[in-house]
Amino acid sequence: LGPTVTVGEILAEIVATTRGDGFRAAQPLVGPYPSGAPAIFIAQCGRIGGAAAMVGAVGDDDFGRLNLDRLAADGVDVSAVAIDPEHPTGSAFVRYRADGGRDFVYNIARSAAARLSWTGAVAALMSGAGHLHVMGSALSMPSAAAVIARAAEAVRARGGTLSVDPNIRKELRLDAETEARFAALVDRCDLLLPSGDELERAAGVDGEAEAIARLFARGVAEIALKRGADGASVFLPDGTRHDAPAFVVDEIDPTGAGDCFGGAYVACRRLGMDPDRALTYAAAAGARNVTVRGPMEGAGSRAELDTFIAGTPRR
Ligand code: ATP
Repeated sequence: LGPTVTVGEILAEIVATTRGDGFRAAQPLVGPYPSGAPAIFIAQCGRIGGAAAMVGAVGDDDFGRLNLDRLAADGVDVSAVAIDPEHPTGSAFVRYRADGGRDFVYNIARSAAARLSWTGAVAALMSGAGHLHVMGSALSMPSAAAVIARAAEAVRARGGTLSVDPNIRKELRLDAETEARFAALVDRCDLLLPSGDELERAAGVDGEAEAIARLFARGVAEIALKRGADGASVFLPDGTRHDAPAFVVDEIDPTGAGDCFGGAYVACRRLGMDPDRALTYAAAAGARNVTVRGPMEGAGSRAELDTFIAGTPRR
C-alpha cells in the first residue's frame, strides 16, 4: 500500500560516557550521533527492508547533514525532510545516572524540528503512504502535532494503518492539549507499542490485564509491550499472547532500544510476518542496539539480526 512514514524530531545526540547526575560539571561526552525517536524508528525500519520515509526538518548545518546521510544510507526516503536555513538542527544530551535512570537536555523548541509544516513534499509522500507511526515525543511540538493529525487523516483515507509509541519523556511538554492529542491517536491506532507504565497511562486504568482489555475495547488491534531487559510481549484481541524472552547482552547504551524495537516490529509486520516472528526480530533489534553507544548505531539489517538471533543466548 506504500511506505511506512513517521513524522517528528531529527536530532543530534551527545552522550556522557560516565554515570552520574546531570550536566552541571565538565565530563567526557561523545557524539554527535544521529538521533530523535522518530528518526531512530524509521532508520531501523529502513534497515529491515520495505519502504520507509521520514517527515521532519533539520537545519542547514552538519548536525542536519549527519542525519540526512544516515537516514539515506539506511534506505529511508528523506524527500519530505525540510532543510530550514533559519534554524539549527535540534540536539539532545543524555546522561545515565548511577541508579539506572537517565537525564536528557533537549534543545528542540528553538530548532528546525519545532517548525514543521505541511509542504508539497509532505503532501506528495502522504498521498502514497501505507502506514503512519507516531511517536508521543513528536506530539509535544505543536507544529509536528498538526502535521501528524493531517498525516493520520491522509493515511486513513487511503485505507492505511496507524501505530503509536507513547514514548513519554519527562523533559518534553505533556500539557493537557498534548495528552488529548495522544488519547485521540490511541483511539484510532491499529498497533500500540508502550513500555513500562505507558500501557496503563495510555489506557487510563491500573493493572496490565485491565489496561489491555480497555485498549482493545477502544479499538486498538494489537499491543506490543516492551519490558527492557525483561523482553517483550504481544497481545491480540482474541486473547492470544506471545512472549519474547530477552536476549542476554551487555548493555552499553539503552537509549533507542524502544525505537529500534518498534521500527523492526512495524517493518516485519508490514512485510507479512506473523506477530510471533516479528516480535523475535523486534526484541533482537532492541537488544542489539543497546550493545553499541549511540541511539541508532546498533540498528541492524535483517541479515545482521538473523546473525544476532542465531548467536545470542536468551533468558
Ligand atoms: P527507549 O525509550 O530507551 O527507546 P523503551 O523503554 O521504549 O526504550 P525498552 O523496553 O527499553 O524500550 O526496550 C525495547 C525492547 O528492546 C525490550 O522490550 C527488549 O526486547 C529489548 N531490550 C532493551 N534493553 C535490553 C537489554 N538490556 N537486554 C536485552 N534486551 C533489551
